Amino acid sequence: MQHVCSAVDIVLRQKPKIGGILNLLNSFNIDPNQSYLVVHPRYAEVAKNAIDAAIIGGYHYDYLDRQKLPSLTVHGIYIYLGGIKPKRTVKQILEKLSKDGWLNKTELSAHEAKELIAAKQPQSLLCGQLVCEWCKAKTLILDRHHYPVPKSKGGDKIVNICPNCHQEFHQLIRTACYHPSEKLIQFFRSVII
Ligand SMILES: [Zn+2]
Ligand SMILES: [Zn+2]
Repeated sequence: MQHVCSAVDIVLRQKPKIGGILNLLNSFNIDPNQSYLVVHPRYAEVAKNAIDAAIIGGYHYDYLDRQKLPSLTVHGIYIYLGGIKPKRTVKQILEKLSKDGWLNKTELSAHEAKELIAAKQPQSLLCGQLVCEWCKAKTLILDRHHYPVPKSKGGDKIVNICPNCHQEFHQLIRTACYHPSEKLIQFFRSVII
């Protein structure tokens, strides 16, 4: 479960692993057995409200925890926030953070989407005998998909891919991903929790 608490600017997410954080939680009189990410007061430089803080906090947590920053979609952020705001609002916030240079918005080309999909771990069906040209999974069904040029643009080359790859491809090329910009990473480095 996730909460956003604007009064103390604390985002509830996962168990903290950062030194000194428990003392800080105690000072807020918060149960240290719960899962929290404390949002630094300097977040006000980026976050104009609790939802911004929650989004930035999520990216910051990943940065501190794994130094690996995810690319997230509107839908991904919406799920992460526990559906507390409509997707429309989430999208507006992500667009604003992008406009202000904190996030980079990328849209994948057909080639980039295909490369991502082909790098998946294939999950084969026990009784499938057909092989997906992209992920190499054994499957019962192969879809005929126009690639690299869509049929609507006159493409006549076909690939035979599993329904998973096919669905994911069409989803990926119409979905924008947002990931932290160099400016936001510099900000994370300057904020010590
Ligand atoms: Zn496949
Ligand atoms: Zn297709």
